[in-house]
Amino acid sequence: AILVSRRVKSRRKWSRVVGVLKELEEGCSTSIGRLKQVVDAMAVEMHAGLASEGGSKLKMLLTFVDNLPDGNEKGTYYALHLGGTNFRVLRVQLGGENSLILGHEVDRQPIPQHLMTSTSEGLFDFIVSKLEQFVEREGNGSMSMLDKRRELGFTFSFPVKQTSVSSGILIKWTKGFSIEDMIGKDVSECLQQAIRKRGLDMRVAALVNDTVGTLALGHYHDADTVAAVIIGTGTNACYVERTDSIIKCQGLLTKSGGMVVNMEWGNFWSTHLPRTSYDIDLDSDSPNPNDQGFEKMISGMYLGDIVRRVMLRMSKESDIFGDATSRLSVPFILKTPLMAAMHEDDSPDLKDVSRILKETLEISDVPLKVRKLIVRICDVVTRRAARLAAAGIVGILKKIGRDGSGGIMSGRTKSGETSSRKRRTVVAIEGGLYTSYSLFREYLNEAVAEILGEEMAPYVVLKVSEDGSGIGAALLAASHSYPSIGPVN
Ligand code: BGC
Ligand code: MG
Repeated sequence: AILVSRRVKSRRKWSRVVGVLKELEEGCSTSIGRLKQVVDAMAVEMHAGLASEGGSKLKMLLTFVDNLPDGNEKGTYYALHLGGTNFRVLRVQLGGENSLILGHEVDRQPIPQHLMTSTSEGLFDFIVSKLEQFVEREGNGSMSMLDKRRELGFTFSFPVKQTSVSSGILIKWTKGFSIEDMIGKDVSECLQQAIRKRGLDMRVAALVNDTVGTLALGHYHDADTVAAVIIGTGTNACYVERTDSIIKCQGLLTKSGGMVVNMEWGNFWSTHLPRTSYDIDLDSDSPNPNDQGFEKMISGMYLGDIVRRVMLRMSKESDIFGDATSRLSVPFILKTPLMAAMHEDDSPDLKDVSRILKETLEISDVPLKVRKLIVRICDVVTRRAARLAAAGIVGILKKIGRDGSGGIMSGRTKSGETSSRKRRTVVAIEGGLYTSYSLFREYLNEAVAEILGEEMAPYVVLKVSEDGSGIGAALLAASHSYPSIGPVN
């Protein structure tokens, strides 16, 4: 009798776990109808953010980048990239024609955790010490570089209010960085000061968001590239806008008639987003509550932690993970790459899932049924993220008239030129979620095609731009190393 009642109890607990999963699935639903609402909301918010300062949660920041690399840039340029998890120093040798990159060298370093919350001086002294080491190593071979001032592109992957193509003020931190004294400071000036202190002869020729670097490299290789998206530790997008559509900046004039706009879409918000109690808790426990809502549903910093929260809830409703569940209460203990590895475990007995549960969460002897459940949770969370990012991308295409809606039905206008409806449009993409997480990439690609529809989908190309944010900054340093356009009011 005891045995029977135990079995009944355990069955009841399992049904509660299944209930939690069902609720998660419903909460994360991204039907095509809902995605289209997100597309529309994105386009509407873009308009609002361009119409007036503070007109939308989308900041739609000017970049002062008014022409993109065309393949004729020449010389040796440097780039620094400070963004998510890693910090990178690059040297890029540009061939001068045909988009030829003669060579590039990268040095990657994890950013010590304590520097992410230290002082601006601490952070920049560290960065410049790495830069100096990098420059010193080249000393021997390339003598020609020694007597020449080095031009530097600085990729700084946080929201910056640019004052020119090479200067700008930090608006706020994201992705777990929090250095109070930096907010409101000129980012280039901080770097330039640290460079001077070390006695290096380098000049910050361009200060760019990582999306803008990615767009620059994308355009260098393929002139149809009009937008760039990052889905890594954080997420964001930029695109080329017509200056006369940037209403909040009356009289903005550029030779090309366009300017790259950094959307800061990580902060996008809409009531159409499928939000769960896990998202709400994650947000309120974060150092930046009510901020970066879209990013918190999509990017690598957060996906693993959403999964952890669901597992924690299940462990509270039942005993599926045994007693050893205390590790599940540790925020951010389940990193997104490990979550991806569980999700993509294709061994029949889900060996990797067992191993990761044991090594990371100290949970052992999890039955296959429960391991399958965990894979399912990862799938729900990742699929939602990928599909929302896809809706964001189509939102941009809609704003610039490249989504096929509201255009002329035929491929040619009366005057015979190809209408925008049928023009090839390339979006450059970078970031670990897209480049290293196949299921995420597949879900995203699939959703973009699904939203655009059969007729339009073939005209939209998503292209990975490897190391684009860094190399792109070097390219922009190259094309802006002459005195560039000053601030335009
Ligand atoms: C930042 C953006 C950046 C993105 C991707 C976000 O958290 O606000 O500026 O482009 O992460 O790195
Ligand atoms: Mg990044």
